[in-house]
Amino acid sequence: MIHVGVNGYGTIGKRVADAVRAQPDMEVVGVAKTRPNFEASTAVEKGFDLYAAVAERKPRFAEAGIDLAGDVEELVAESDVVVDACPSGIGAENAAMYREHDTPALLQGGEDATAVDASFNARANYDSVADADLVRVVSCNTTGLSRLIAPLREAYGIEKVRTTLVRRGGDPAQAGRGPINDILPDPVTLPSHHGPDVNTIFPDLAIDTLGLKVPATLMHVHSVNVTLEDPPADADDVRSLLEGERRMFVMPEWLGLDGTGAIKELAQDSGRPRADVWENCVWGESITLEGDDLYLFQAIHQESDVVPENVDAIRALTGAADRKESMAKTDEAMGLVEPLSPSR
Ligand code: NAD
Repeated sequence: MIHVGVNGYGTIGKRVADAVRAQPDMEVVGVAKTRPNFEASTAVEKGFDLYAAVAERKPRFAEAGIDLAGDVEELVAESDVVVDACPSGIGAENAAMYREHDTPALLQGGEDATAVDASFNARANYDSVADADLVRVVSCNTTGLSRLIAPLREAYGIEKVRTTLVRRGGDPAQAGRGPINDILPDPVTLPSHHGPDVNTIFPDLAIDTLGLKVPATLMHVHSVNVTLEDPPADADDVRSLLEGERRMFVMPEWLGLDGTGAIKELAQDSGRPRADVWENCVWGESITLEGDDLYLFQAIHQESDVVPENVDAIRALTGAADRKESMAKTDEAMGLVEPLSPSR
């Protein structure tokens, strides 16, 4: 059993805790929270041991009637691996604590790549983090792009990737980011940070990215153009290639999924926890070849696509399984084996 602690129990942390708990070879030691709120209450209801992230705030938990199992330092000491899902920047600050306890840790995509030993995406570079102390599971957008780029690169070679990322303004619960009614080039200068971030996974890949922010909360949408070195005869070959990939949902036309709202509705209808969409959602009819140039649209659920990647990263850095075995195990345990549409 791999004993896993989760430090930071918010959007990503609570999902990772559930996904880790579902694995046959992992156990959640507990989760650390800074304050007693609805997520602390959820953790208690789910039976996770709760640890105080900030010692001085322990009395607030007592006032709310929430029992604590200890301090975050104890959680770190008792864990074989810690998943740090604290807000951007805090993970890097916590790194000293993980090193002090000699506990390997996963940081998230909001951290700078320079804060860690290696950046991780299961499909693209699983083997590169073995025995690392600090690993960064790359952001939702970089995860989505890496899953797409890896198979295309292996099958056809890539001359250049150009992607425009239409990004949600905030997560559904991030009331502080709104209300808004605008379309922002973000950043207005090129490239956006996403291209360099993809280069932490594929160092020699030529990639340009542009970012926009829109007043939406459900998902991101990527408009992708990849110039292939050795393109196939037609777009159907690309479609078959992507259909054969894990965590890739090539959405058939007949489902009528015309936007991210419909995809999220399908996730709810399918009984997915929190209506999560762990896969890249590629619009099948958008897959187009014009000479050497491949075009497609994909939607990325920012709150959940990195969750199976965190589970795989735990096995990758502890050497518990190889890539294929880990990805299969993760998907099986999370219920990611079937595509969102049961009758596809
Ligand atoms: P969040 O704000 O939803 O959750 C963070 C949690 O950590 C909150 O519960 C907060 O109270 C808690 N926290 C704050 N300071 C802490 C501390 N010192 N110790 C322990 N807990 C502390 O944030 P999130 O969206 O889950 O993001 C976490 C990380 O994941 C960031 O690096 C982010 O960039 C990355 N990420 C977020 C998304 C997304 O869309 N939400 C997607 C991919 C990656």
